[in-house]
Amino acid sequence: MSTDSLPQTARPLARPRIGSITLAIVGALYLIAFTNRTFWSRGLAYFDSRLALAAFGLGLTCLFCALTVTLSVKYVLKPLFVFLFFSAAAGSWFMDGFGTIIDVDMIRNAAQTTTSEAGHLVTPAFLLHMAIFGLVPSLLVCWVRIEHRRFYSKLRWNLLTISLLLLVALACGISAARSVAAVTRLHKDMMLTLNPILPIGNAVAFALASEADKNIVARPLGTDAHVAARTPSGKPRVLVIVTGETARAENFSLGGYGRQTNPELSQLDITYFSDTSSCGTATAVSVPCMFSNLTRGGYSHRAGLASENLLDVFGHAGIRTEWWDNNTGSKGVANRTVYKSFSDANDPRYCKDHECLDEGMVAQLDDWLAGVKGDSVLVVHQLGSHGPAYYQRYPAEFAHFTPECRTAELGNCSQEDIVNAYDNTLLYTDHILASIINALKAHQDRVVPAMIYMSDHGESLGEHGLYLHGAPYIVAPSQQTHVPFVLWQGSEMKALADQDCLSLRASKPASHDDLFHTALGLMAIQTSVYEPKLDVLAGCRRGAAS
Ligand SMILES: [Zn+2]
Repeated sequence: MSTDSLPQTARPLARPRIGSITLAIVGALYLIAFTNRTFWSRGLAYFDSRLALAAFGLGLTCLFCALTVTLSVKYVLKPLFVFLFFSAAAGSWFMDGFGTIIDVDMIRNAAQTTTSEAGHLVTPAFLLHMAIFGLVPSLLVCWVRIEHRRFYSKLRWNLLTISLLLLVALACGISAARSVAAVTRLHKDMMLTLNPILPIGNAVAFALASEADKNIVARPLGTDAHVAARTPSGKPRVLVIVTGETARAENFSLGGYGRQTNPELSQLDITYFSDTSSCGTATAVSVPCMFSNLTRGGYSHRAGLASENLLDVFGHAGIRTEWWDNNTGSKGVANRTVYKSFSDANDPRYCKDHECLDEGMVAQLDDWLAGVKGDSVLVVHQLGSHGPAYYQRYPAEFAHFTPECRTAELGNCSQEDIVNAYDNTLLYTDHILASIINALKAHQDRVVPAMIYMSDHGESLGEHGLYLHGAPYIVAPSQQTHVPFVLWQGSEMKALADQDCLSLRASKPASHDDLFHTALGLMAIQTSVYEPKLDVLAGCRRGAAS
């Protein structure tokens, strides 16, 4: 019986048939063409010769097609493409929309992010983007019937196709070699945006490295540490280290920003270090680096894990240390000390869905100070200016700069509104820092206090088309690496250093490298791991050679 005799409605919708090589090539072309806007736009900007860019693009496309043809095996091709389409869709959302580069550090940062923080990134626009660029092509690939040749025939055809593709890639590579070498050396960011190859490769590298990291044991550091001298009054020293979040120096009025973002700190007797650079551009790099003695040049994730840190050195000297966290954890720094999470506690007075205003920590400072018996160091890890939901970082009375961007979807706001919301977060941090200083001042009858505030990294607010942070350091703009650094000393601590000398020092370059040694210096710790040249106060201490 011919199908013509069946009623029209009963005819099944025919699934199109497509050869495995054709599908492998079409899928690869889709990924190269539709999920690599950032990569191609950087190519257009960086290559002087359009011809060289075309040869480079063709060569890369052939290489990618050769890879997918190699993997065009039964039961592999469909799941492979579904995986590639969703990975590429996510990659292109962050790269094209935020200028994010998805390297190993960025993946580590994402893996250590709390669910509430990640939740801000899953917006309706993100889901729509994932549906268009991930779900639709995946459904199409699942729908078609793939025709695979018999084994030997498939082997022959695949080898022939792969050889041809590699030959074209080779010819392209040779013809554009000089331009490609120049561009990739000058603009290291371009290849880092190749989607989805680089993000997937970096995710694999991250997974392998985290497995190996599990066996690393921290080597003891500064076990000879001891307090060299008591304070003149005999009262215990108290140092509060505020590790800020995402505050950039460019928007601090203490550093010359046109808007008043530091109304409270500017009324207090503080020292502002105007030229301070961060160790990394993301929390997961900067925070462990700041508390290590490795310096930016010597720091790596693994080297950081393999050694104890500043808090351990204080511990060896018999100083009580404690870490208060309103962020995504201490990144291993507080592994061996008292740790208190404010976001886990979720106090309804300050928190909503485990995201808390930094005030929650300040509210407990008075009681903590009242309980101080000996030399103590407290780290306060703020949530500060963490984006993209800047408007949720401060209470309504700090919404001074308006109109503010009141969504995590930065694409829906003008740059002015984004900056307004961001500047409000800085106003609030200014208030938090001033409140901490005032609490310390109020306890000066019992303790000898000091406070160090350093932001962990800065933030891009649309400059050069970049948003948020986490750019590879080598290409990171100053907005992400120039950070505020504030020092406040109580009256007794202050008398120990020449303040004119300190003001001069504050105008010179400083960095996260200085935190470790400056903190040891303030607490009068003597140890073989202390380096005076990285202590911003060392040259200004009374009695010190200048
Ligand atoms: Zn951070």
